[in-house]
Amino acid sequence: MSIAKNIAALRAALPAGVTLVAVSKTRPADDVMEAWRAGQLDFGENRPQEMAAKQAALAALPSPPVGIRWHQIGHLQTNKVRLIIPFVAMIHSVDSARLACEISRRAVEAGRVVDVLLEILVAREESKEGWAWDELLAWLDGGQCRSLAGVRFRGVMGVATFTDDESMVRAEFEALAAMHAELRERFFGAQFDTLSMGMSDDYPLALDAGSTMVRIGSMIFGRRF
Ligand SMILES: *Cc1c(COP(=O)(O)O)cnc(C)c1O
Repeated sequence: MSIAKNIAALRAALPAGVTLVAVSKTRPADDVMEAWRAGQLDFGENRPQEMAAKQAALAALPSPPVGIRWHQIGHLQTNKVRLIIPFVAMIHSVDSARLACEISRRAVEAGRVVDVLLEILVAREESKEGWAWDELLAWLDGGQCRSLAGVRFRGVMGVATFTDDESMVRAEFEALAAMHAELRERFFGAQFDTLSMGMSDDYPLALDAGSTMVRIGSMIFGRRF
């Protein structure tokens, strides 16, 4: 199957209003171009250096692709924020107050307001990133997040445990959806409209639980080696 066919098949399977982020990490800029020609505009990367390099390579083409929105989906170190701040559309992986502050500071310097998601830890795996729910609530209750002029809080992101146990994955997605609803109600209001969850192996379960944004790599571009 070609990239274009994979994208068409996925789009047909997604409910209206769900955004498809094509995860192009480890893939060459040519693959991004092929997806873009098939109408894909949202692309996800997990390394800021790689995103910045791809963005620059595409911008340098004789006829550069128009309208691409870059999503930072992987862990972001504070010292890498500056690499992507001039152009990034959404940062899904805000997992600390320090990172939120740095994004805001750099965005204000660049004259931008950047859309961000709060990554919440739900998976039962040591390796996974994200806020512990209690710590996130304590930070939000403290009110410091309201003074971050360079970020717009748009929602929640999460990664489920990598397991064959469907009921565990379902429960984790449902927990994320409930936390998203609670944060919208208590702190952020209507602009907090994005629930980023679901990857190639588990996106149907994420959609069942109310995902509004799926991040899909291998189903579009083939397996990564
Ligand atoms: C790699 C990655 C994806 C996409 O994974 P696939 O299994 O290739 O669809 C989604 N989200 C995050 C955070 C990732 O790192």
